[in-house]
Amino acid sequence: MKIIFLGAPCSGKGTQADRLLKDFDIVHVSTGDIFRTNISQGTPLGLEVRKYTENGLLVPDSLTVELVKDRLSKPDCQSKGFLLDGFPRTLSQAVALETFAKIDAVVNLCVSDEAILKRVSGRWMCKCGATYSVDTLGESRTCERCGGALYQRADDNPATMQKRLEVYNTSTLPLVEFYRGKGILVDINGENRTPDEIYLDIKEALKK
Ligand code: AMP
Repeated sequence: MKIIFLGAPCSGKGTQADRLLKDFDIVHVSTGDIFRTNISQGTPLGLEVRKYTENGLLVPDSLTVELVKDRLSKPDCQSKGFLLDGFPRTLSQAVALETFAKIDAVVNLCVSDEAILKRVSGRWMCKCGATYSVDTLGESRTCERCGGALYQRADDNPATMQKRLEVYNTSTLPLVEFYRGKGILVDINGENRTPDEIYLDIKEALKK
């Protein structure tokens, strides 16, 4: 299966990706994770993209498309299929993607800007990929899955999130109609429901 997760930043893509990967043996390809790993390791790619990610701006298409094209050409993605999380984010990335991958389904996680701005300052992450909300975490800052120390993303603050939302609404939202026109998009209500409820909808939609 080859799937795309569309949705604004902090809409729950990572949380739902986690669940999906437990049920389906596919590869998680998150461009944001790839960039963050490179930034923390101080690689040339990390040094190049940092100025964009820290300001809530998109990394240039040419660089991002080549990175994803290379990742999807690897044997694991070729044999198992993949879940694209955070890519494509522009129409030009989506058009480029069509030249090297055939997508089966696009899951569009719908959450309002107001809910996202409320969520952002309460989001905590673990290196293992787990994501938590302060509402369910309480005082703990330890990962329930691996025991690791939780941290907050440098770009998870209200000012940068406002910019990321603007960028999402301008550059990425047009992809919803692009994929709806192809008949492969499913809208999922990602607001005011538990992650389990949302995941059930996603699983049901993918079965079809
Ligand atoms: P994410 O973890 O998906 O929210 O991505 C974090 C940041 O990485 C974004 O705010 C962008 O700066 C950059 N980024 C991730 N994916 C892309 C993409 N497909 N195109 C351009 N920039 C991206």
